[in-house]
Amino acid sequence: MTAAGDLRSHYQVVVVGGGPVGSLTALELARSGIDVLVLEAEPHTTDVPKAGTIHARSIQLLTRRGHFAAPDVDAAAASTTFHYAGVWGLEITAPPGEGPAIAGIGQSDLERLFTAKLIELGTPVLKAAVVTGVDQDDAGATVTFTHEGLTRTATADWVVGADGARSIVRRSVCFTATETVPTAAALLGLAVLDDPAGAPRGWVRTDRGWTVLNVNPSGLSRIITFDLGGPHEDHRRPLTAAELQQTVDRFAGRPVPFRHARSLSRFSDYSRLVDDYRLGRVLLVGDAAHVHFPLGGQGLNLGIGDAIGLGWRLALVARGQAGPSVLDAYSRERHTCAAAVIANVADQRERMRIGADGDRLRHELDVLLRDRDRNRALGSAISAQSRPAPRALTHAGPGDFAANTVIETGTGVTDLIRLHAAAGNRGLLLCGNAPESARALVDTGWRERVAVVRARNLEADVLVRPDGVVAWSGVWGDGSELPARLAETFGGSAARARLTSAGTR
Ligand SMILES: Cc1cc2nc3c(=O)[nH]c(=O)nc-3n(C[C@H](O)[C@H](O)[C@H](O)COP(=O)(O)OP(=O)(O)OC[C@H]3O[C@@H](n4cnc5c(N)ncnc54)[C@H](O)[C@@H]3O)c2cc1C
Repeated sequence: MTAAGDLRSHYQVVVVGGGPVGSLTALELARSGIDVLVLEAEPHTTDVPKAGTIHARSIQLLTRRGHFAAPDVDAAAASTTFHYAGVWGLEITAPPGEGPAIAGIGQSDLERLFTAKLIELGTPVLKAAVVTGVDQDDAGATVTFTHEGLTRTATADWVVGADGARSIVRRSVCFTATETVPTAAALLGLAVLDDPAGAPRGWVRTDRGWTVLNVNPSGLSRIITFDLGGPHEDHRRPLTAAELQQTVDRFAGRPVPFRHARSLSRFSDYSRLVDDYRLGRVLLVGDAAHVHFPLGGQGLNLGIGDAIGLGWRLALVARGQAGPSVLDAYSRERHTCAAAVIANVADQRERMRIGADGDRLRHELDVLLRDRDRNRALGSAISAQSRPAPRALTHAGPGDFAANTVIETGTGVTDLIRLHAAAGNRGLLLCGNAPESARALVDTGWRERVAVVRARNLEADVLVRPDGVVAWSGVWGDGSELPARLAETFGGSAARARLTSAGTR
């Protein structure tokens, strides 16, 4: 582990917060050769009873970036049943060749995985380093932190705030945000159930409230209660085992005794979404940028999308290859995704309310879930696959996610996920036509940013970003938008590229 004495005074990027999203963001940057420092307040990774549901799109992103093993491109579509507003029956489907629809992985395990990879790469991760402020000017940013009783500073070209819901980075730099007030109160804890077989399992609603028990017959069970009747009187008052026990018993309508309660906390349906994910040289990812009621297991998944959406772009900007406009594209895209999650979470909360309005909305939900198309559309939204990948890669347009596809290259047969993993943080230009001419275009300024691949089985050409999103598709030739899309996505000059490559066609 890194010692304070090993640190330098300046880094290209300082990531504040080494939780699951901060460690993934730092890893994305470090794998692109960026000089990163991670400052994390806690001395060790702790097993928090929070995220355990990793949705389909996150799995697809993590396989493309080489963090998870690549699935078999011939594998069938995978489906699983999930819940919406506590009602089971939502179908979540991952397309063929993309791996599972859901993976059950604890967020602490993800954090350990990403941190171990960072350490393997030699990236400094300073634990027990509590950031107290961030200042910036046009030239760079200064991060102030305390470590082993001393106040220290590190300067950086860029700072990423990945320091969770109470982000000091967000507050120091004065990011503005849109908020909604809390209307519900939830309690959370881990405990050993006296009678695991007799405890109410899963999402259970009574006339008084909801209990959600992930029953572990031989150890700690996760216990959550949802009171949709109003907010906490004092959300800062520490939760006691007695209050959790009394609330579970009241909502269940019978005693559900437990012992050894720990990791006790309160949360609510308060939501916050920053208006912009970038202010000058400071960017936000994960809960630092967005918080909401944890319904549908979407918060960490949003953060995974942020980390992967930011890493390759910030690497381009930190290397001086692209201007800050690519970071503004990050902000716009991720803001849209977070706003959609906050809206579906609010919809779920309304359907969970106790009383006539909640009953009516749950009845409507039952009808919706029985309609296959509407069910699938909702499942796609919860799993961040609202924009489905067209099955034929060459039918995909800008903004579509590029489906995993067999690619016959000049030297053999592979697939899109494996090409992504091999290309690292470079984009892919898959050429069904004129690969030499496309290579000449890319050589005019994008060679380090885009890998050109001969794709004999494609009828057209497709430019795919490192995060799997199509930036352009068509046939590269005179008048094509390809140079402009390359410049917009990866920085550089389309006009110079047109001039330089004109002679090679
Ligand atoms: C009950 C519950 C269940 C959930 N289930 C799911 C789920 O199934 N799926 C899902 O996608 N999401 C779920 N979530 C949401 C998920 O837990 C969060 O979205 C996730 O933790 C966000 O990760 P993060 O890295 O952005 O923030 P955090 O996990 O909060 O990490 C922030 C890190 O920054 C560090 N830090 C904070 N302040 C400082 C500082 N001043 N200096 C240095 N370091 C600092 C912290 O120590 C921490 O390590 C759930 C949440 C709850 C409450």
